[in-house]
Amino acid sequence: MVASVPPAGSSNGSLPEPPIENLVIIGSGPAGYTAAIYAARANLAPLLITGFQRGGIPGGQLMTTTHVENYPGFPDGILGPELMDRCKAQALRWGTKLVEADAESLDLSSRPYRLVTSEGETIRTHSVILATGASANRLGINQEERFWSRGISACAICDGATPQFRKEQLAVVGGGDSACEEAVYLTKYGSQVHLIVRSDALRASAAMADRVLANPAIRVHWNREVLEALGEDWLRAIRLRDRSTGATEELDVRGLFYAIGHTPNTDLVKGQLELDERGYLVTRTGRPETSLEGVFAAGDVADSEWRQGITAAGSGCQAALAAERWLSHHQLARPVERQSIEPELAGETQPTATSDADNFDAATLWQKGGYALRKLYHDSNKPLLVVYTSPSCGPCHVLKPQLKRVLNELEGRALGVEIDIEADQEIAQQAGVTGTPTVQLFFNKELQQQWQGVKQRSEFKTAIEALGAPRP
Ligand code: NDP
Repeated sequence: MVASVPPAGSSNGSLPEPPIENLVIIGSGPAGYTAAIYAARANLAPLLITGFQRGGIPGGQLMTTTHVENYPGFPDGILGPELMDRCKAQALRWGTKLVEADAESLDLSSRPYRLVTSEGETIRTHSVILATGASANRLGINQEERFWSRGISACAICDGATPQFRKEQLAVVGGGDSACEEAVYLTKYGSQVHLIVRSDALRASAAMADRVLANPAIRVHWNREVLEALGEDWLRAIRLRDRSTGATEELDVRGLFYAIGHTPNTDLVKGQLELDERGYLVTRTGRPETSLEGVFAAGDVADSEWRQGITAAGSGCQAALAAERWLSHHQLARPVERQSIEPELAGETQPTATSDADNFDAATLWQKGGYALRKLYHDSNKPLLVVYTSPSCGPCHVLKPQLKRVLNELEGRALGVEIDIEADQEIAQQAGVTGTPTVQLFFNKELQQQWQGVKQRSEFKTAIEALGAPRP
C-alpha cells in the first residue's frame, strides 16, 4: 500500500523557502501530544499544529468531557481538560514547537510536504503525523439553526451550567458513552433529563449504562427519533417520533444536547490519501503508515472502532516511533542538540484567586469574580474583556490563555475579568449568557461586541485596538 512520491522539489527561486521540519504533527488530542512527546524526546523538535476552530477545539474530545475514569495512572479519575493540559506541558517540556492555528491546506503531492496555516504561514516538512481526530455530529432536524445556542447544543459539559437550563426539563440524544455521561452530568442542573435513544439498547459501556438506568432523574425514551425543535426565542419543546408505531408526540424541554457520534476530520487529505467508505484514514493493519511514505496516522482519525483516549495515545506513540525510523532510514532526520539533558520541570499552574476588597487591584490585567467586574466596569476607563466560563468547560480552558496573551500584548491598554457562571449566576443571567465561553467587550460602560465559543486571538485584539484606548 505504501506508495513512493517524487523527491524534494526545488525552490521557485523568488521567495526564500522556510526551513524543512523533521516532523509536523497535526492535532492536539491525546494522539497528537503523545506523538509530540516521543518525537521531542527523540530530539526531532516536532512542530505541532494545535488546530483551533476546524475539527473541534484544541485538546480534542477530552476537552469536552468531565471525569476521565479509565485513563491508567489516575485512580480517582482526572478532568479531561486537565489531562490534556498535562500532556501539553509534557510535550512542551521536551521541546515540541506549538503553532496555535488551524492547518488550512496540506500538499502531499511532492516532498518536502507543504502545509499552510490559518495564519498564512507556510511550513515544509519531511514527515507528517495526522492526528486530527473527529468532530461532533449534528442531527440536522427542522429549526436546528434557529435554536442553535438558544437551547440546542453539541456540548452539555460546556453549556449545561447556563442559567436557562437550571431546574428545567432537558433532553440528550444518543445511546453511547457520551450521551450517558452528558445525561448524568445534566441532572446537576435540570429538573429532569430525557435520554432519547433511537433503538431499544444503549451502546454505552455497562458501567455507564447502569449509572443512567439507575438514576431516577433520567428517563429513557427508547425507539424515538427527534423530528424538529419548537419554540419562539428559546427552545420550548421537541417533536419525537416513535419508530415502532410511527406516532409523534411533543416533549417539553428547554435544552436539547447532541451526543450522536463523530465524523473523522480528513478534509485536509481527501483525494491525497486512501480513506475508507466512512472517511477514516486507511492504515496498514495494526500500523500507523498511511498510503503515502512519510505520512502517518494516529488517534480517532484512523480508528472507527476503539476511539478511547488511551488507544489514541498509544497510536500516537506508534506513529512517532515509525516516523523517527522512517526519517533515520532515509537519512532525513536533523536532530536538535539539547542545551541541558534534563529539561526544566513543567510545574503546576496556579488558578487565579477571586478578587475581593482585600486583593482587588485596578492595574492587574486579569482578575476573577463579580467584585472585580463591578469595580472595573464602574471605575476603569479602559476596555474591559469579560469572559464567562463554567468549571468543566474545555473550550473555556483553551480560550482563557489566548485572552491573557492578548491583554499582555496590549500592555495594559485593556483589562480582563473572568466570571464563573456557576459561582456568579445572577451576573450571568443579567448578561444574557446562553453558553460558555462567552466574551463581552465593554468600553465606557457600553457593550461593544460579544463572541461565543473559541475565536482567534486576532479577533479580540483588533476589536480592542479599534476602540482607540490610550496607552497607560
Ligand atoms: P458512539 O458512536 O459510541 O455513539 C453514538 C450514539 O449516537 C449511538 O448510540 C448511536 O445510536 C447514536 N446516534 C448516531 N446517529 C444518530 C442519529 N442520527 N440519531 C439518533 N441517535 C444517533 O459515540 P460516543 O461519542 O458516545 O463515543 C465515542 C467513543 O468515545 C466511544 O468509543 C466511547 O466509548 C468513548 N467515550 C468514552 C467515555 C468514557 O469512557 N468516559 C466518555 C465518552 C465517550 P446507535 O447505537 O443506534 O448506533
